[in-house]
Amino acid sequence: MKRALALSALLLVVLEGASATGRLGPQPELSHSLPLEYLPPNLQALVEQHEAAALPGEPAEHLQGLYEKLKRWRPGTTLQVCFFAGKPLLRSRIANAAREWTKHGNLKLEFGPSNAPYDCDSTRRYQIRIDFRYQGVWSMQGKGSVQLAAQAGPSMNFRGYHVAPPPEPEFSRQVLHEFGHALGFHHEHQNYEGDCESEFDWPELEKRLAFDPGWSPDQVRANIRRLNDDGRYQAVGGFDLASIMVYPLGAWAFRRGESSPCYVDEPNYVLSDQDEETMRSAYPDDVAVAEAERRDALKDLRAHVEKQSLGKDSRARSLEVLSMMARENVKARRVVEKLVEVTN
Ligand SMILES: [Zn+2]
Repeated sequence: MKRALALSALLLVVLEGASATGRLGPQPELSHSLPLEYLPPNLQALVEQHEAAALPGEPAEHLQGLYEKLKRWRPGTTLQVCFFAGKPLLRSRIANAAREWTKHGNLKLEFGPSNAPYDCDSTRRYQIRIDFRYQGVWSMQGKGSVQLAAQAGPSMNFRGYHVAPPPEPEFSRQVLHEFGHALGFHHEHQNYEGDCESEFDWPELEKRLAFDPGWSPDQVRANIRRLNDDGRYQAVGGFDLASIMVYPLGAWAFRRGESSPCYVDEPNYVLSDQDEETMRSAYPDDVAVAEAERRDALKDLRAHVEKQSLGKDSRARSLEVLSMMARENVKARRVVEKLVEVTN
C-alpha cells in the first residue's frame, strides 16, 4: 500500500481535454478550465519503475523524502531548455514566464537567443525539452527530465499552445506551474502540513475523474491521494494556499466545498512569497553545503538498501540507480535501459 501511495506524488502532471487513451473528448468541469495533469503512460511507467528499483522494500518516510531531494538539480546549474515546435515568439513568452522562478535561488534557465530560442536537436544536450504536440500539459519532475525522458522526446508539454495558447494570465500560470515540477517541486496540496487529504470528497473525485481521463477508483486514489509527512515537500513555511503549485480543483472536489482550507476560488497566477523561499531553500547559494546534504542523502538511502533482505540483483540495481541519480551528468538512457531490461 505504501508503495502505491509513494508513487502517487510522482504521477501528477496536466491533462487538457483529452483522455489517457489518446482520444480527444469532452472535458468535465474540473475547475476554472484547469486541465488535469498526468504523464503519458510510457513516462509514467518509467517513473514507477524507477522508484521501485531505487527504493525496494518499504522505505521509511524520511528516506522517501531524500529520494525526492536527489531528483533536484545541482544548485548553480544552468539548465538548457529547447523546443521541438512553436514559433520564436511563443518560445520567448514561455521563457519569460518561466524565468520568474530563477529570479530566486541559485539556478538558471538558458533558452538561447530571445529571437531564436533553441530547437531541440542532437547537437547538444538539453535538460528541459518542450513540445506542444502531445496530449495534456505536463512536466517530468526534476532530473527525471533527463534520467527518464529521452533526449529525443519532450520532458514537458503544453498541448496545442503552438496553435492556440491560452490567454494571460492562464498562460503564465501553466508555464510557472509546469516549470515548478521541472525544478523538482510537488503540488502544494500534497504538503503534509495542509491535510488536504481529509478535505477531498473522494466519491466525487472518483465519479468525475472516471469520466475523463477515465481513471478507475484505484487510479484516482493513486493519482490524487496525498502522502502524509514523508519529507518530500519543501514545506519551508507550512501549507501555502497562495502557491503556484496549488492544484486549484473546484469546490466540488472538497467535502466542505468552498469552506475547505484547500480550496482556492481563483487559481494562483504568480509565485507566492513562499514559492520564492522554497526556490532559495532548494537551490541555495552555498553549493558546497547543498552537495554535502546530497551526499548524506545518498549515504542514508544506500544504507537503507543494504539493510533490506533483497536478492543480489535487485540490491545491485538499486545501488546503481541511486548512485546514477546522484550524478548530474548521468546518461539518461542508461537508467532507462536498465529499468526496461528488468521489466521485460
Ligand atoms: Zn502540477
